[in-house]
Amino acid sequence: MGVTSVVGANWGDEGKGKMVDYLAERSDVVVRFQGGSNAGHTVINRFGKFALHLLPSGIFYPDVVNILGPGVALDVSELSQEIAGLEKRGVPKPKVMVSERAQVMMPYHKLFDGYEEERLGARQFGSTRSGIAPFYSDKYAKIGFQIGELYDIEALTDRLVPIVQAKNVILEHLYHKPALDAKEIARTLNDDATKVRNLVKDTSTFLHKAIREGKSILLEGQLGALRDPDHGIYPFSTSSSTLAGFASVGAGIPPYAISDVIAVVKAYSSAVGAGPFVTELQGEAAHELRERGGDAGEYGAKTGRPRRVGWFDAVATRYGCRMQGATTVALTLLDVLGYLDSIPVCVEYEIDGERTAEFPLTGACGRARPVYRELEGWKQPISHIRDYDDLPRQAKSYVSFVEDEIGVKIGWISVGPRREQTIMR
Ligand code: GDP
Repeated sequence: MGVTSVVGANWGDEGKGKMVDYLAERSDVVVRFQGGSNAGHTVINRFGKFALHLLPSGIFYPDVVNILGPGVALDVSELSQEIAGLEKRGVPKPKVMVSERAQVMMPYHKLFDGYEEERLGARQFGSTRSGIAPFYSDKYAKIGFQIGELYDIEALTDRLVPIVQAKNVILEHLYHKPALDAKEIARTLNDDATKVRNLVKDTSTFLHKAIREGKSILLEGQLGALRDPDHGIYPFSTSSSTLAGFASVGAGIPPYAISDVIAVVKAYSSAVGAGPFVTELQGEAAHELRERGGDAGEYGAKTGRPRRVGWFDAVATRYGCRMQGATTVALTLLDVLGYLDSIPVCVEYEIDGERTAEFPLTGACGRARPVYRELEGWKQPISHIRDYDDLPRQAKSYVSFVEDEIGVKIGWISVGPRREQTIMR
């Protein structure tokens, strides 16, 4: 099967976790290549329901190697807790590897994430406060720490002292919070890193060998194309690239090794946090879709916050698929729409009196009004269906319409949150 990226074409929460859990059955390796414990990939299988934050969604197959690549924001204590939590719930001991180059989430990254949101007040971004923006800022400012470097406590403390000195100035004068102690942070990090030392490996060499041997590898993205810092709704984006193009960097494999890009596309829209959302619903219609959405309503898997919801946005999704370089689409959550007589789909935006089918810059996106086409609803449950031909006529028309609009073949249709509720087309 080669190397396949499984990435989001929307704003995240498309059901990537479910699709990776489904596809991993026929895979040897699953790699998370960006983002951190702000993820909430929901997986429901025979072991129960799980929200995976840092671990790749191949974790439920004891023979699959699950890798945290160098592009990930590695929260070491969360990783240990997550592994222990799975084992407690009867999941067979997973195979996990952490790239020695993965940088670690520092305790002050989480503090700064929360303090900055507090400072911004009404203008905050709606961060999950997992430290992601401060983490990637420091990584690219070259004041981050690779996990493989945490075992030499003297060298670690040496590098930390001037960094913490600068952090303390901001803590004291901007946020009016207590100062940090570099030595104490170094000790904690060193202890935490020691607990996972047996997982820390040269994963790039491992992956190169796996590719040479023709192993089947999945690269699992977090969030979606519209949250990419370059191509998404900046600054309402995340801080690492969510694109399949970055997967080669974030995993540490050649770009030409990736043969397939599966873009996970949601049959309606949802978003967490601030930013323009053209098809967003309000009031009773939003309430109904939110309650019927997901596996138990559209609420953040990480934060429990109600997600913003809206109709399918073909303008945003076509662009999202293009930026991902999608070769196939997995259309998820189709079952959720089974309560509607007719289903609006946004096919164009109207911005300042002009119609467009191209996804605009963030400011214009905020002024865009959706232009809808109404499609016939199927008004029946479809979660039990496993054959495409058995879907109601209207559901098949919806799938074909979406496929024509986004211009990418829909290869899978997900009709429920469980692993087996998947139709291969
Ligand atoms: P991810 O971050 O892309 O993995 O997505 P999340 O797990 O955050 O959100 C997707 C939500 O939809 C979760 O609650 C899943 O259990 C649920 N889900 C995934 N696929 C389907 C589906 O086809 N139908 C229904 N009803 N729920 C689904």
